[in-house]
Amino acid sequence: MTHPLLDPNRRAALQALGLPAAFVRRSLLSEAEVAALLPRLPGERPGGSQQLQARPATPAAQRTEQATPHPSAQEKTDGRAHGAEHAERAAPPSSASAPTVAMRPPVAPVRAPLASPARLQQIATLDQAELAAFTHDCRACKLGGLRHQAVFGVGHPQAQVMVVGEAPGAEEDRQGEPFVGAAGKLLDNMLRAVGLSRSGDDPARTVFIANVIKCRPPGNRNPEADEIAQCEPILERQITLVRPRLLLALGRFAAQQLTGSTEPIGRLRQRLFHHQGIPVVVSYHPAYLLRTPLDKAKAWADLCFAQDQLALALQTGGTAA
Ligand code: SF4
Repeated sequence: MTHPLLDPNRRAALQALGLPAAFVRRSLLSEAEVAALLPRLPGERPGGSQQLQARPATPAAQRTEQATPHPSAQEKTDGRAHGAEHAERAAPPSSASAPTVAMRPPVAPVRAPLASPARLQQIATLDQAELAAFTHDCRACKLGGLRHQAVFGVGHPQAQVMVVGEAPGAEEDRQGEPFVGAAGKLLDNMLRAVGLSRSGDDPARTVFIANVIKCRPPGNRNPEADEIAQCEPILERQITLVRPRLLLALGRFAAQQLTGSTEPIGRLRQRLFHHQGIPVVVSYHPAYLLRTPLDKAKAWADLCFAQDQLALALQTGGTAA
């Protein structure tokens, strides 16, 4: 029987991600299936390359141990450039093969003075609908007076997977939904490749998507420390209410918020963190991937890692490490 990952829809999604079919997880395939997927040189027989043999299946826990926390020099450079992850929202790259790294001001500290106790206390009592209404009325930071609308989030209110991004861009500000436009389409394709979607009735297959801050920073600049600090209780309450079994942090700001680390993405990805007792996996922001398509393969590896961690969390009850 053909492996489900060879399903034409999934292969189409992988192609939309810019990933060849060979990025299907080989550990889940038979040797014949791997050989059938791999490109061949003219005259080469299927499965003729020693390099292209299927690997024996590896337990998920073992893969976790084998994750490489030491990035290459290129990854370290990527991490420094992550302040520019969203630069393309303002100025899309002219060439995917020659990405340019926009110079951005230094990133705000991850931890800034917290919101007032009264604000924290109020937010902690709100349910989903009340929190959404509270967010749409919020003026706790200067972004509240600059937005068209706050972007609360979208998806299943009890989703098993919660995706956290950075901040709304111009299109999100107009539509009131996170991750729309080109980056949103890429995220949808990435999710579809692992059987997930932003809309649906099944909490196991429908994610919830939110951002670290809910209102658009003008000019698509980086969120500032006071904005993150004021908005943090809203995200924390969202996480508490959704209570996902896995958090997927996309981009530096989400990664910093959910891991508490200031290390670059290249050092955080393929490692497991916990936030509110929930497993956290870090990967690149889709907007960054649009500018740096070569890193899509790493993002795919991160999605596979996330799937493994979700499976472990579901097996063990998703308890904190
Ligand atoms: S960014 Fe967050 S804290 Fe600032 S006004 Fe919008 S919802 Fe309120």
